Amino acid sequence: MIMKKWQGKNLSAKILFSSPGVAQQIWIENRTGAILFDTGDGTLRDLLTNRLDLRKLKGIVFTHGHFDHIGWLYSLLGYLRMIRRTEELLIIFPKGCNEAKLLLKTFVNHYRKSTPFRITAKEISPNETFQIGGMIIKSYKMVHCGSVKGPDGKEMILGEPPALGYRISYKNETIAISGDTGTDGDLKSLIKDADLAIIEATLAHSKKVPQEAIKRIHLAEDISREIGKMAKQYILIHKGKRKK
Ligand SMILES: [Zn+2]
Repeated sequence: MIMKKWQGKNLSAKILFSSPGVAQQIWIENRTGAILFDTGDGTLRDLLTNRLDLRKLKGIVFTHGHFDHIGWLYSLLGYLRMIRRTEELLIIFPKGCNEAKLLLKTFVNHYRKSTPFRITAKEISPNETFQIGGMIIKSYKMVHCGSVKGPDGKEMILGEPPALGYRISYKNETIAISGDTGTDGDLKSLIKDADLAIIEATLAHSKKVPQEAIKRIHLAEDISREIGKMAKQYILIHKGKRKK
């Protein structure tokens, strides 16, 4: 089941799944091609049960290397090998994203000779522009530290992996994807005036959360909504637990 979808004149977005600490996968397409943003748990199942046309898939783009955004890359590549894909596949990830690099290396080392399509991997820094399937994509620096609950119940920051947000443009239409981020990233320029902004809202409300967490770990729904208003339309995703 597609969680949420949006249809513009030239671009469309399908949020296949998004839940923090579980998975995220977002399918963006124009008439001729598609890009998959992140490949969390169940990506392959989501693509197949939604009958998305994998022949349209031109590239996979990662926002960052946490397991809920990247874990299913190996299975997806295995499936594309099994169905004998022949078209080149681009794989884009933030510069220094070792998880993507190592997963890819594991797949390629093992299956290079029997994989009928070329995999072209590219590391991207903030403020770079590249093209996939006719769509122009610009990267924006996000700040998303990993965190876990410490023994005292307080959030412990685990370091800051490279994280990017992306603005995808095609024929005067633009979709912005924040990925996971705190407010310290280049979030406002990413979202401003986009036709659609897809923004994470992991935390329920900023009130009870330390400022540091909002700045450097995740957005809270009240803040995501405020920032979302800078775009023409917005969708909030990656929502964590909410009290009913
Ligand atoms: Zn996440």
